[in-house]
Amino acid sequence: MIHKNILYCLFLLLTAFFLAPSNAIPITDAYPGVFSPDPEIDVSSVNIHGVLGYAINPFPANESNRNHYDSRKGSKIKYLIMHFTEENFTRTINIFTNNSRDNPTSAHYVITQKEVNNLAGGQVLRVVPEELRAWHAGTSAFGSDKSLNYVSIGIEHVNLGFNGNISMPEMNRTYFPYDDNEIAASGKISRDIVKQYGILPQHVLGHEDVQPAWKPDPGPLFPWGKLYHQYGVGAWLDDDEMSVDAINAKYAPPRSFPQNLNQTILLDMLHSYGFRSSGDEERVIIAFKKHFSANQFPALCDPIIRVEDMFWAWALEAKYVTSSLTTATASLFTGSPTPSGSSCVDAVPDCLQYNLNECQNSLYKPIMCKYCKQTCNLCRDSTCSTF
Ligand SMILES: [Zn+2]
Repeated sequence: MIHKNILYCLFLLLTAFFLAPSNAIPITDAYPGVFSPDPEIDVSSVNIHGVLGYAINPFPANESNRNHYDSRKGSKIKYLIMHFTEENFTRTINIFTNNSRDNPTSAHYVITQKEVNNLAGGQVLRVVPEELRAWHAGTSAFGSDKSLNYVSIGIEHVNLGFNGNISMPEMNRTYFPYDDNEIAASGKISRDIVKQYGILPQHVLGHEDVQPAWKPDPGPLFPWGKLYHQYGVGAWLDDDEMSVDAINAKYAPPRSFPQNLNQTILLDMLHSYGFRSSGDEERVIIAFKKHFSANQFPALCDPIIRVEDMFWAWALEAKYVTSSLTTATASLFTGSPTPSGSSCVDAVPDCLQYNLNECQNSLYKPIMCKYCKQTCNLCRDSTCSTF
């Protein structure tokens, strides 16, 4: 009997030894001088979509409440949701791993900003594996989807948010800028995430976009245009799309550009794009302005509707919702009858193979073509060498 117990203990020890990541180190070694007291977290170095970072190792059974995640229940990843933490890195990780059942929160990734305690910006820490559901978006909605935690990857950007409290009018808040290295790391991993899961440009969203009545993040200083232009991530307008004539010529939208500043029409366009409200339409308009028409201009993030807001809402609907290119894409997914003898390029003229590295400024979306059974990429960028 004694021999059996000894053998069993030996078996457990060996199993734990071989299952534990061989490069596990305490988080206090991975980020020297950042955590005090020691939060007793082990991390392993990992390659995160081309960026070297760390991953938090699963906590043992007696600390299982520290694992802030559960199953996606088979849901497919369709969204990438950006946040700011409103806390420094240390406190964020302590919150994301606290041993409590009371309102546990988390995200798949936390990206650092440069902090006074010598923490460099742009370091990526995985808190939750992508195949599991992190708890970052709550009772959210966009388009026909609800409870977006099931279908999204969440990235938290360390940023203290804004001075003041949430009851302060948006345009009176002072937001903290983002760290360049932090955004560079975010752009790199986001580009790979979007490509890997085939996430639509309009499904790369801020937390406030999917919970407009409750959340202020990632704020009006989050550089959505930079992510689009430098990394091909998310929805935006190109420089040659900044006029009504250009949008009409390029996308032939069924809706004419509204001649009046009209809240009902604006909300109809935002609803068509995917925004959902829980009765507070003003918060939907402000969320939209922070992401698009008043991005980088907090003083304009008020409820007043300006012509820029009408234009961005109309142009984004034209580009991402009603354009013929979008319709062509949809026909591939719904499986229209295969044109006999036609190739992918014949069936959908805009569907071309191209090198994403040559075409980073484009709106692109990798799709599996039902005709040629290959991955085709839609490209709208005339600078792409294979366009
Ligand atoms: Zn958030």
